[in-house]
Amino acid sequence: MIDRVSTSTKTIERPKVQENLDTSNDTPKFFHYVKKDQIIDSAVNGRVVVALCGETFPVTKQAKPGSPVCPDCERIYRGLRKK
Ligand SMILES: [Zn+2]
Repeated sequence: MIDRVSTSTKTIERPKVQENLDTSNDTPKFFHYVKKDQIIDSAVNGRVVVALCGETFPVTKQAKPGSPVCPDCERIYRGLRKK
């Protein structure tokens, strides 16, 4: 059961150790819809998450606040809710 699908992966508070200096190239332009349990799983196991659109990425790579939502994810998400 999905209690809430978040557009961001900001679920876990991490200590501010990383400054993300060399990951800016890979920062996604869009937020993707990702199931919460996958985010947790990724945080625990270090695995990549799979967005609704099929995009895979590690949770450490997050879109900047204010970034648009991935159109594919949004379409799929709306389709899921329409039932
Ligand atoms: Zn997406």
